[in-house]
Amino acid sequence: MLFCLTAASCAQESGSSARQAPPRLILQITVDQLRGDLLWRYQDRFGEGGFRYLLDEGTVYLDAHHRHANTETIVGHTTLATGADPSAHGMVANVWLDRSAGVLTYNVEDARYPILTEGAGVDLATEIDPTQRAARSDGRSPSAIQVSTFSDELKLFYGRESKIFGVSVKDRGAISMAGHTGKAFWFSKQSGEFITSRYYYERYPDWVTEWNSRKPAEAYAGESWRLLHDASTYLFGDADDRPYETVLPGFGRTFPHEFGDPSDRYFTTLLTVSPAGDELTLDFAKALIDAEEIGADEVPDYLSVSFSVTDYVGHVFGPSSLESEDNILRLDRTLAELFQFVEQRVGLENTLIVLSADHGAPEAPGYLSDLGFEAAYVDPGSFDRTTAIESLKAQFGIGEELITTYFHPYLYLNRELISQRGLDQGTVEAAVADVLTQFDGIFLAISSSALREGRTPDFPVVQTILRNFSPARSGDIYIVFEPNRFINNFDGLTVASTHGSPWRYDTYVPLIFVGAGIPAQRVARPVQTVDVAPTLSLLIGAKPPSGSVGVPLSEVVQYLSGFRR
Ligand SMILES: [Zn+2]
Repeated sequence: MLFCLTAASCAQESGSSARQAPPRLILQITVDQLRGDLLWRYQDRFGEGGFRYLLDEGTVYLDAHHRHANTETIVGHTTLATGADPSAHGMVANVWLDRSAGVLTYNVEDARYPILTEGAGVDLATEIDPTQRAARSDGRSPSAIQVSTFSDELKLFYGRESKIFGVSVKDRGAISMAGHTGKAFWFSKQSGEFITSRYYYERYPDWVTEWNSRKPAEAYAGESWRLLHDASTYLFGDADDRPYETVLPGFGRTFPHEFGDPSDRYFTTLLTVSPAGDELTLDFAKALIDAEEIGADEVPDYLSVSFSVTDYVGHVFGPSSLESEDNILRLDRTLAELFQFVEQRVGLENTLIVLSADHGAPEAPGYLSDLGFEAAYVDPGSFDRTTAIESLKAQFGIGEELITTYFHPYLYLNRELISQRGLDQGTVEAAVADVLTQFDGIFLAISSSALREGRTPDFPVVQTILRNFSPARSGDIYIVFEPNRFINNFDGLTVASTHGSPWRYDTYVPLIFVGAGIPAQRVARPVQTVDVAPTLSLLIGAKPPSGSVGVPLSEVVQYLSGFRR
């Protein structure tokens, strides 16, 4: 294997037997909801060693997008991890209806593998993440991911020698990236600790027990999230108090945002809606790097760190808010600290870093309206009560039971009843989809029968829905709302903005590779997130993940001129 530091040295070395060792560490960073433009908006404000290191030293893709329709967290993470579309990797949504059990299923739930800490699972009384609330069990595993990840392929290539870890505040942000063969840790809002499940360990490694016993979350007791700089230096410095921002109990809409005390029921939740959540993730990752001796020998190790706070802050305050702006400046400091730590322990020259995001984000409709742009929230619950749907039910002789459930992005029909009435499933799907498409706020509703049978218009949005289609898990009708329209009410909790559409603001993400001899350059050609995993495989010499459809990125891999195999 040969990693050349420059094109010139590649040319020089290609005729010789000089070979540079592969990177000791592949560090995959995913910033949850970091839309592609946000780095450019704030680039002049970054300090040294964080985003600056990536932007100045790395191969920076300026036009990277997800290519699937449902731009949600598990879908984007798994796509980055596998190089596959959701149609192949199977993670078509954060939540889908398990038809055999007749219940909604959370993507990484698995009752066979309980979490190791009793009482650290989801608490329905305080959980604000609507997808976590759908889980019926505290067990977690990657079993629902139907293909291999890059991290799996690295493990398979090097056998037992390669260490694979995933860390995140979110279980789905950690589990997806660690794949089937790695180990995952995530933050419990119940216990304020990093936890794992029996899929990974029978008991906690000593270093995890030691880290948790220090109770790092409690260090934020009585503290608050304050601005890093003077408010006048911020783009949104005079826009802290906006009516569409979510008021979480005790946290308020304006700085400083108080965390309260550990005894307060929302204390740990508020940490995850502030830079503290990513700081805790960083601290845990540092302990992991030391204890597990990550990057200590020549066999490449893999560490995924998914930073979740940008997502929670984006949902609660919108991506164009003072909170979002300050969070990104603080994330820049968090990244700088991580990179400095990696430099000390592993050496940045021995570390290949790849950074991207699981999805982008829409602007809050209130922010758009302030600027004269028409936008609105939608309430899908109201669709079921319209005259058009009522007359459809009468036409088919099916009452309230026609629609089993709606959970973004799929509408699920009552297949058993449709069959019992002697009706054709495809005909009913098409009729419901037709009616839905006429509703204000709905751009397109497309039936799964039409997708399965290839009866779909050749239309870019339809292509993204096809890539999202899994016969076993997808619902019967995929609903796409018009641009800048989305649901913001989840069980009574209203948020400022919600991603999950196929529109460009939700698909646009940063994509940067740095280290291991990869040159500093800006690349303007369009690339896709499915390209990431096969690029990493090619760099190592491992085979591509099993469902991978991406193309290795030529700007990254062209500097290789020889392989050990
Ligand atoms: Zn996300």
